Amino acid sequence: MSRASALLSLQQIDDRIAALSSEITTVEASLRGDPELDRLRKAEAAAQEEHRTLGTAARLAELDAASLQSRIRELDRRLYGGTVRNPAELMEMQRELEVMRAKLSTAEDDALERMEQVDQSQASLQSASALVSARESQRADAMEPMRARLESLTAERDVLNAERDAVRADTDPADLSLYARIAAHRRPAVTGLAGDFCAGCHMPVSNEERRAVRTGTGLTQCANCDRILAP
Ligand SMILES: [Zn+2]
Repeated sequence: MSRASALLSLQQIDDRIAALSSEITTVEASLRGDPELDRLRKAEAAAQEEHRTLGTAARLAELDAASLQSRIRELDRRLYGGTVRNPAELMEMQRELEVMRAKLSTAEDDALERMEQVDQSQASLQSASALVSARESQRADAMEPMRARLESLTAERDVLNAERDAVRADTDPADLSLYARIAAHRRPAVTGLAGDFCAGCHMPVSNEERRAVRTGTGLTQCANCDRILAP
């Protein structure tokens, strides 16, 4: 294997290791937690709180209406019970009764409206809980395949790391540091020829340099972009 070919295969291994590492990071994050499930649980808690608040308000509205009703019954009893005979007083009670009945009507409408809100919030809560359950079971099903995937990715990376060590051990340290220096700012650091051109920057490569690349004696770099040219 020529020196450039060795660096090219090292680059392929490095790229594969980088891709595996990035996928491993993603799978590990998915195993640790599920932002979507967190979001759905928060929504469920908010729906629960909303339902509770509306329930309290509805019960208070019902109590208001009930208390008005009992006051009206009491007033009714006094008005028609025959104990009050003074016409002015009777008229005053009549007026009061009308005012109370109007209030009761408003209070009953209010209580009814609040009960409807409670029903709606109950339905919202149920659908929020259903979404949480669905996501939880989906996640439970995905955990085992995700663990298996992580295991296989890690195993593959271990093999590649060993291969990488072997290639590096067989490569001149000066070549390794040249490759590292170029790879730090140009990807890929090792590239082929595209006809008479550098495949990395698409600038022409001289006859002499192309010959040197093909024969594989020493390392040839593109005069324009510095990349190592491989046959
Ligand atoms: Zn170039």
